[in-house]
Amino acid sequence: MYWVEVQCEFQCRACGRLSPINYLDLDGSVRCLYCGLDQAFARASWTRALDHAHALGDLGAAHAESREPHAWLSIARENPMKGKTSAEDVQSGMVSERGMQFPTSLRIDARLREPQCQACSVPLVVQRQGPGQVHTTCPRCGTRDQFAMPIEAPGLCAGLRAVIASEHSTEFKPTRVQCDAAHPEAVTLECPGCGAAIGMNPGTRLAVCQYCRTTSRIPEKAFARAGADAKQEPFWLAFDGPSLLRKQLLREPGVLSPTTPLLEAKLAEPPVRKRPTAVELGLMVALPLVLLALYAFVDLVLLADYVTELPF
Ligand SMILES: [Zn+2]
Ligand SMILES: [Zn+2]
Ligand SMILES: [Zn+2]
Repeated sequence: MYWVEVQCEFQCRACGRLSPINYLDLDGSVRCLYCGLDQAFARASWTRALDHAHALGDLGAAHAESREPHAWLSIARENPMKGKTSAEDVQSGMVSERGMQFPTSLRIDARLREPQCQACSVPLVVQRQGPGQVHTTCPRCGTRDQFAMPIEAPGLCAGLRAVIASEHSTEFKPTRVQCDAAHPEAVTLECPGCGAAIGMNPGTRLAVCQYCRTTSRIPEKAFARAGADAKQEPFWLAFDGPSLLRKQLLREPGVLSPTTPLLEAKLAEPPVRKRPTAVELGLMVALPLVLLALYAFVDLVLLADYVTELPF
């Protein structure tokens, strides 16, 4: 399992600004953190973004032949992630899903970086709890948290194993959000423990009730409507297994064609076979010779005096 840090944003269809998406928002809509407008968002946009992050983790940095190199096919020459520690992907145009057309404008910036404590910027100690669940501890400030991945997530990207984002925390209950029908743009926040009104503190997503001391987490979608500034926060995705890009580079049958025309043109040619290295060639010649010598030694030296008397 390896981690990829991502930052995502989309262009709002009402105000035109680039609004951050700070978690895997898979409910079919996203909310602009500037103007508060909810807008339809295709899951297919997430599929492509997740495949992009998976490809960087699998094929980036020193993994030119991927994390699990193929026995005799080489993908290093064609690997677009070769040597990279960060890669951006921008989607635009329309995607079709469930027979409908959705505009997409998702931008994802992926980088090879371990999950960090938001407060101290040091790598977190991460433990796997169960499928899609991780437990984190900050070695400096000692803050503990746990995260659960949305159950639909593996259906969008088979290699996705876990996600670390404030919104997916299961450690704290979400703050209750009350809407006033007369003023739909304004919301009030209530403690999930006692129902008392609570205010927001700048710089943190956590709110502590002044009556019952319950700590709750303010949902991102309530954040903008409660008057907070839109803030880009990185989140982390853990992957395992071969990425879609690796399968494409290996020309695995039945794999979707790549979205970039440049890569598509390259993949029209057959894959490159690896050249055996000097060590491998040496072994290919030396190994049979060694076996032959061993056989000769056993036959001539050890069995030299042993003569079988045949019964006829
Ligand atoms: Zn907007
Ligand atoms: Zn910390
Ligand atoms: Zn309370």
